[in-house]
Amino acid sequence: MSDVIMTNTVRDPEENRPKYGLVDGGTIHLECTVCSKPLIDITITRPGFKFADGTPLEGNYIARCPYCSCFSEKHFIQGGIAVTSLSRIDKNGHEIVTTFMRDFDINPDGTTIFNIQLTGK
Ligand SMILES: [Zn+2]
Repeated sequence: MSDVIMTNTVRDPEENRPKYGLVDGGTIHLECTVCSKPLIDITITRPGFKFADGTPLEGNYIARCPYCSCFSEKHFIQGGIAVTSLSRIDKNGHEIVTTFMRDFDINPDGTTIFNIQLTGK
């Protein structure tokens, strides 16, 4: 199997191959508008991404606060995203995840609502 991959790699010039890599297009920190607690981060991994038919991948995103059930500000983002957990370092130097995205809802207006869950201490 690896011989096949090697053969294709040699045969196709790099510029002819599709690009699948992710880039760091910046990170947006979502915090609750009421209790100001940090909730989660959204990293833009494919800035300006468009589907094959030219339709841009874009949307509005908010996070539901697990502390008070209110919401973050709404962010309009163009491109592909990754929702990343928040973490802190404990007294032993170990990273502890404190929040993560449990699931999401989509509002009738198309806004994606991330439901955040607490974990750790
Ligand atoms: Zn809150």
